[in-house]
Amino acid sequence: MIVKPKIRGFVCVTAHPNGCAAHVQEQIDYVKSQSPIQNGPKKVLIVGASTGYGLASRISVAFGSQADTIGVFFERPANNGRPASAGWYNSAAFDTAAQKAGLFSKSINGDAFSNEIKQETIAAIKAHLDKVDLVIYSLASPRRNDPVNGEVYKSVLKPIGAPFTAKSIDTDKELIAEVTLEPATEDDIHNTVKTMGGEDWDLWIQALSAADVLAEGAKTVAYSYIGPEVTYPIYRQGTIGKAKEHCEAQAKAIQQTYGIDAYVSVNKAVVSQASSAIPVVPLYISILQKVMKEMHLHEGCIEQCHRLFIEKLFVDGPPVLDEAGRLRVDDWEMQPAVQAAVKQVWPHITTENLRELADFQGYQDEFLKLFGFGLPGVDYAEDVEIEVDLA
Ligand code: NAD
Repeated sequence: MIVKPKIRGFVCVTAHPNGCAAHVQEQIDYVKSQSPIQNGPKKVLIVGASTGYGLASRISVAFGSQADTIGVFFERPANNGRPASAGWYNSAAFDTAAQKAGLFSKSINGDAFSNEIKQETIAAIKAHLDKVDLVIYSLASPRRNDPVNGEVYKSVLKPIGAPFTAKSIDTDKELIAEVTLEPATEDDIHNTVKTMGGEDWDLWIQALSAADVLAEGAKTVAYSYIGPEVTYPIYRQGTIGKAKEHCEAQAKAIQQTYGIDAYVSVNKAVVSQASSAIPVVPLYISILQKVMKEMHLHEGCIEQCHRLFIEKLFVDGPPVLDEAGRLRVDDWEMQPAVQAAVKQVWPHITTENLRELADFQGYQDEFLKLFGFGLPGVDYAEDVEIEVDLA
């Protein structure tokens, strides 16, 4: 089949198998070109392993620390002539590359919030790894089925307390317009914290600990975001921010309860399937990318994850933490010079000058790459097999 991008709003509903494999290979090549992770992890579980930060974490520990990995995710296989989702193709490509490099790699596709997938994962750890020494928690999901009471929680991206009006970009139509977002209800806040907060991270560690599959000195890391003032009402002070605060508090609770090193890493804003759904944020990312590229500070997921492991987590001595006990790889994004440059552009940006004042081309290129489009060396006119197996 010849696969072309089909964009619907902020998602692309098709993905290219060879393009996704090339994207994974690009990230592997990056890691191989960098220093290895000294005293890095050897047996790693990644929850949310198929795209974005989770995939980059998996690639970094596998190819930067020779780690065997188990990746859990929720992706769609090819069906009825419809290509699989990008995360499916990414994971299949990762499995192949890891096994070729002599590393163990197993992918588990299913709902990570469920007890069944937790138990299936534990069985796989016991069978293949014995124990894990690092657990990365990188889920981004709009809904969660509670495994205890069967309730379905839907997360929302809303401000809290008052409506929020700001510039936002319709990335599909390339239009900048003001959007007004109505404030969340108490229910919205509760549901978002239940979905994207730290509860499920805690349930994972509880299950892994009870099954005795956490190695002595194991670490766990979940990902968070803070960002600039311009996105505070929709992000850090909004419903998703409440979930992130919950997750950060959970790190301390996990540490105390299970006696393992639990951290939140605050990462930078990048183009991902999750971030493209947030109002205002894609416009901020487009401006940020231009500023950071000009300052030679640009990073994507793979650069972020590798720097996190090399410079912050697996260092001689204790991990490098901020005053609140968090790992910070948003440090370059939050540099005053970077933020001042973004702030200067923000009031002036319009549909007409978007490509001049922001790196919108770069944003679009990155977005298409998430689905395997626009990669060098891939023949997009070629008929490709869309049915691809996971390991
Ligand atoms: P993403 O959409 O690229 O990846 C989400 C992952 O979660 C995928 O592997 C997906 O399959 C998996 N997933 C979703 N629902 C699942 C379910 N029910 N069961 C199993 N797997 C499921 O997202 P991302 O942007 O890489 O975000 C990952 C984490 O990083 C999130 O916590 C996010 O808040 C955080 N973060 C993202 C950014 C950013 O700019 N993208 C910045 C800082 C922190």
